[in-house]
Amino acid sequence: MTLSRLTLIVVCSAILSGTVSLSQELKSQELNANFARDPGQPIDQQYTDQIHKYTTDPSFISPLVDYLPASKTVPTPAKVLGDVSGAPDMLPYAEDVYKYFRLLEASSPRVKVFSIGHSEEGREMIAVAIADAKLLAAAKENDARLAQLSDPRTIGLDDAKARQIIDQSWPVYYITGTIHSPETGAPTALMELAYRLAVDDAPYIKYIRSHMIVLITPVVEVDGRDRMVDIYKWHKAHPNEVWPHLLYWGHYVAHDNNRDAMAMTLDLTRNVLDTYLGWHAQVLHDLHESVPFLYDNTVGDGPYNAWVDPMLADEWAELGWNNVAQMQSFGMPGVFTHGDFDTWSPGYLMFLAGMHNGISRLYETFGNGGADTEKRILRPEDYSRTWYRQNPPLPVVNWSQRDNNNYEQTALLSTISYFSHNTHHFLENFYAKSKRAVEKPTLEGPAAYVIPADPADANRQVELLKVMKRQHVEVEQLSDAVTSTVPAEKRGDKPKQETFPAGSIVVRMDQPYSRVADALLDRQFWAAGDPQKHPYDDTGWSFTHLFNLKVARVVDPAILKSKMTPLDDPATLAGKVTGNGSVMALADTAQTSLLSLVYKLKGATIQIAEKPFDADGKHYAAGSLLISNTPDDSAKILHDLSLDASRLAAAPSVPLHVVTAPRIAFMHTWLGTQTEGWWRYAFDAAGLPYDYINTQTVAAQPDLRAKYDVIIFAPVGRASSLEILNGIPMWNNPMPWQKSELTPNLGATDSTADIRPGLGYDGLAHLKTFVEQGGLLITCEDTAQFAIDTGLAPGVSVAPQGDARVVGTVLNTVFVNRDSPVAFGYGPGVPVISAGGMAFNVSSILGRTGGRVLMDPLTDPLDPYAKRATGRGSVDDSDEPQGRKITEAEPLVKQQPWEPRPLDEELTRNNPLVIPEQSRPDVILRFSDGKNLLLDGLLDKAGSIAEHAVVVDAHLGQGNVLLFGNNPVYRGETIGTYALVFNAILNYQHLAHESVPSEKTSASQTQPQTTEPEAGR
Ligand SMILES: [Zn+2]
Repeated sequence: MTLSRLTLIVVCSAILSGTVSLSQELKSQELNANFARDPGQPIDQQYTDQIHKYTTDPSFISPLVDYLPASKTVPTPAKVLGDVSGAPDMLPYAEDVYKYFRLLEASSPRVKVFSIGHSEEGREMIAVAIADAKLLAAAKENDARLAQLSDPRTIGLDDAKARQIIDQSWPVYYITGTIHSPETGAPTALMELAYRLAVDDAPYIKYIRSHMIVLITPVVEVDGRDRMVDIYKWHKAHPNEVWPHLLYWGHYVAHDNNRDAMAMTLDLTRNVLDTYLGWHAQVLHDLHESVPFLYDNTVGDGPYNAWVDPMLADEWAELGWNNVAQMQSFGMPGVFTHGDFDTWSPGYLMFLAGMHNGISRLYETFGNGGADTEKRILRPEDYSRTWYRQNPPLPVVNWSQRDNNNYEQTALLSTISYFSHNTHHFLENFYAKSKRAVEKPTLEGPAAYVIPADPADANRQVELLKVMKRQHVEVEQLSDAVTSTVPAEKRGDKPKQETFPAGSIVVRMDQPYSRVADALLDRQFWAAGDPQKHPYDDTGWSFTHLFNLKVARVVDPAILKSKMTPLDDPATLAGKVTGNGSVMALADTAQTSLLSLVYKLKGATIQIAEKPFDADGKHYAAGSLLISNTPDDSAKILHDLSLDASRLAAAPSVPLHVVTAPRIAFMHTWLGTQTEGWWRYAFDAAGLPYDYINTQTVAAQPDLRAKYDVIIFAPVGRASSLEILNGIPMWNNPMPWQKSELTPNLGATDSTADIRPGLGYDGLAHLKTFVEQGGLLITCEDTAQFAIDTGLAPGVSVAPQGDARVVGTVLNTVFVNRDSPVAFGYGPGVPVISAGGMAFNVSSILGRTGGRVLMDPLTDPLDPYAKRATGRGSVDDSDEPQGRKITEAEPLVKQQPWEPRPLDEELTRNNPLVIPEQSRPDVILRFSDGKNLLLDGLLDKAGSIAEHAVVVDAHLGQGNVLLFGNNPVYRGETIGTYALVFNAILNYQHLAHESVPSEKTSASQTQPQTTEPEAGR
């Protein structure tokens, strides 16, 4: 049974008035008649014929799109495309898509095109507004009204005033297309949709035009779109060859551009949010392609994000189920909502609306990754019938881009139609959600998040506040010190008093966009037993932890009455130089920009203190910088890098080493460039220079050390070591990634005549030589595994995962070696994000060591057999064999999970595999124990990874290989761990083992090793 909202309204009033017969209203053809075309309007027969020709099955089309109305003045998409939208073998560039929208604008008063910014590579992004000319002419006045609804403080939270405003206002529904470049259908679907909205005189379309503004960004990832069109053109020109997969969707990342809605690092995210909030829109509806045939994931599955207004969850249900019901009424197979996509993470582009009092929506339609018409074979999980998918997709289908465009347009038109009949309702909700966001301190709380003023954190606080600014969150600063009640971490514990100094940052929760700040700064908990067994993305993300900051969640609303002033420019928090003198001192507090400073302070002498020192009444940790011969513009440079410094009267007496700007190379593969793209982003944002090279360059370059000091091999993304070495099989044709007449948009970031060859054994040998000659190789996750597999990290192995479960979880750590320069500036530990719980074991012997240990009283004191064997005496007593004297056993040495097994005579005798002292790996950071390991997200059965090493410095020849089990540079979210990488680069010549005195060596072999204090838990 399918009932449109419109019919429901009519039915309800019929019951009330008793004048209209029910049976008359419930006829299904009457429902479809809601979408009937205007019989008086001529159709464009040629265009209509092509629509039918390219639709592969009559059930893949609906009465909404099975014709195109004709217009004497307004051009159809064919004018630019040369054929209809969704025609096979053709994909338009963004430029052509824009050309069409500008033609529409020029020929119809119902269309206006706006430039909304540019991409990293300088390509334009647009938004297109469509409505009756009357509405567009008054769009500014309407927007002023919507702005009041979006910030109810402007009308004193007065519902009566809001009602008046709602009566005069119309909503804005924002649709975004092709954020994911291989998902190619949306631009042409949106071109035709815009034409229909502007031209069609069907009563339902006229109703839409006169009741709301439809806003469209046809191409979100504009850089990737142009590259996708390039490789598709290459494919059409080489029909019998294998074509390259899309590398560099965007300048930095691939599908992770749809994970950027938290840190908002990418231009496209900022442009879309600024447009969305600039128009004070009510819906952000993002179009994707992967699931057959149309998965409206508006409803999604649990767990839902814990910080959204419950009204939003109900709007998802209302719009999602209604949309699917409409589609069922057209008999189109394979349309469903619900599914198993959880709605937990706020990282998706659509969620910008969910976190800013709007409605987030997303379609997955079916696409072929291009415009070829293909036989598609579905998987049982895709075509099976289930309760929410009673009319599932067909198991085998001949599928065209036109089919995709039919589904996309039909679903959009029907849902917009529903929305147009309920504008009042959705504007009321919009106002109510905005009002409740402002009332948050007195409704559910908290009252505010307070970030205590602290010079040691200022640099990273600036980074957090930049995110808040991009999220349009208001931030203030305390004028005086304030004491407030802060709730205890654990339920049942007493709240405590905390005094925040003047200058502390306050993120008030009585503001319209309080929810996004709450979602980012709060902690997350995903129950191990949650019915959702397939988390779709990260389960934890607390920016408080990932930025390594102290942030207090204050529930007492009294804090809001404290005197505070707006903080408009986060940069004012840091970047001051105090004192007089020729030597400038910079305390290392794990800032993100110390390394950048070394590149910017041209001509200066920069030394690093190897031990802590005090000067002019201030404490400086090891790793702090002492700079002399500072250039004239140093104050400006320090300000731009948010670094505080003090000029000292005299240089302190402390062991130092001089640092110069290391020569950095990024090495990437041709397998995938996304995860390393986040690293490139961080380095570009920090203004760090590097050469961008690939595995093929390294294979051809025997003397890497002559050119580079540091090579960064950032994660590829689940690549095996064999794939890194072998690349893509050479069975078929070469696959170029370079600029050509056919592919003008390829090859700008990096290029190759053939993406197939990998690093190869020559490349591996060159890398090995680079490290042996004193270079630093930085590896992470899959590239750390690669370093282990290929012998670049002697003594390091990946710790068996056991049954531990980690899914994008924020975990607690403890520094094992705080003397390592990698740990400079840090406290006892630092929160890290762990994708799947990767950790390391270290050994002083190469290869597999130890074998089975069946009896070890120290490994498991709870194991009754391990404690002692059956025999005489008590459990704490010794057994005594009869008939001989007792020989005392060697004292057993307790080995911690992050430590190598201690060596003894048995292990070292005539053993060529024993690693020389100076080449044994150093564990820098390890996971906390199981009880303290979880900070945010999902962690289950931590036993196998708890306390294991997570950052290890392996030594090879004169150089070092740094291995990260966590990803320290991830999605612009892990500001707190950037310094681990930057420290290593800055001190790359000082990572070798310090010479170990021989007595210490022997001591470590015979004395029980003690656990270092676990401060800071
Ligand atoms: Zn997608």
